[in-house]
Amino acid sequence: MITAKSDSADTLVRTDAQSFDVEAIRRDFPILQQTVNGKPLVYLDNAATTQKPRAVIDAITDHYLKDNANIHRGVHELSVRATAAYEKVRAKVRDFIGADRVEEIVFLRSTTEAVNLVAQTYGHSVIQPGDEILISTLEHHSNIVPWQMLCEQTGAVLKVAPINDAGEIILEEYEKLLGPRTMLVAVTHVSNALGTITPIKEIIDIAHRSEVRVLVDGAQAVPHTPVDVRDLDCDFYAFSSHKLFGPTGVGVLYGKYDLLNGLPPYQGGGEMILSVSFDGTTYNELPFKFEAGTPNIAGVIGFGAAIDYINAVGMERIAAYERDILDHATQTLSAIPGVRIIGTATEKASVVSFVVEGVHPHDVGTILDQLGIAVRTGHHCAQPLMERFGLTATARASFAFYNTRDEVDALADGIRQVIEVFGG
Ligand code: PMP
Repeated sequence: MITAKSDSADTLVRTDAQSFDVEAIRRDFPILQQTVNGKPLVYLDNAATTQKPRAVIDAITDHYLKDNANIHRGVHELSVRATAAYEKVRAKVRDFIGADRVEEIVFLRSTTEAVNLVAQTYGHSVIQPGDEILISTLEHHSNIVPWQMLCEQTGAVLKVAPINDAGEIILEEYEKLLGPRTMLVAVTHVSNALGTITPIKEIIDIAHRSEVRVLVDGAQAVPHTPVDVRDLDCDFYAFSSHKLFGPTGVGVLYGKYDLLNGLPPYQGGGEMILSVSFDGTTYNELPFKFEAGTPNIAGVIGFGAAIDYINAVGMERIAAYERDILDHATQTLSAIPGVRIIGTATEKASVVSFVVEGVHPHDVGTILDQLGIAVRTGHHCAQPLMERFGLTATARASFAFYNTRDEVDALADGIRQVIEVFGG
């Protein structure tokens, strides 16, 4: 078992640095040890949500068995323990993404909520009618719709940086779209639908040269690649625990301290105040100003266990292992006549979107499911991106570090069966 106690290095058991013991890792994920439709489960829907190691499940259970209480307000022992455990995770997240301060880490519900928070606070503080917000064709609906809503509310205009046929943002076009009215760039770090890793540092540098702030949607980046927000110099970075082997219902917004500190609150309620009277309210300090109401305490604690687990495996090693899986999947699938991979960027995370000639992606997904193979089919919450490729849907296999080359081969066999069934 990969044990993960980041605060006591002597209990940390790492697999040999050169090898990647995927079977040992798989044993840490109880859900993977099952059959589906009589076949061993092959879970390839990690871009939608990842599975949880036992350490995460245990951390949540332990919290409810031993420490459950509301946080920040109680003087009693359980509340003190729960508060300490919750705040410890904030420091883990800070270190995980290389932020300067714990105050820069805001716990929310999801990436989606983080983007909405920035749209409704930063957006409303700076946007005037006719101002522009610049996104890209690659975006997930979560990084489109909040900006469209802001545009409707303020009279701002949404601009979209185009991509090439490989699914890469065309940097020259992006740069041309940055104008005197651009108030924010909001771009994904990794595309959920195609796997493209965007040149995010360059995108940020270009925007900063024009003094434009940048929000990065990091939902699909943090599970696959080390992220250092200080090195990137992004202004905001959003991601979700559940894509990072942690529980659902927890998201993170990183924001530079001075920037976050200058923003108005997002939601009102308990926790985000210092004092309230009927004459007025004084808001709390960062990060609590943005954390109205009782948060997902157990979820955050489980998320801390996920970060410990990933750190124990090692993010660099995860990235290297997944590169091999991606290469194998790309070669194997593209060798099947009738299969076309959508998204062929030079820099990709372990996501393979594909279409099978003459077969609807939903049928591909249904037949694969009968074989115990879970893939995603549909528009992947990126309808404008699908439209760019003249498609309404693809099938998508998205890999995590617990997936194996054998599972890639099982997927390829499954696709061959799909083609046989449809008389290809
Ligand atoms: N952005 C990207 C790139 C995503 O893949 C997702 C989830 N599919 C989101 C944002 C939204 O994440 P959540 O549903 O956790 O808010």
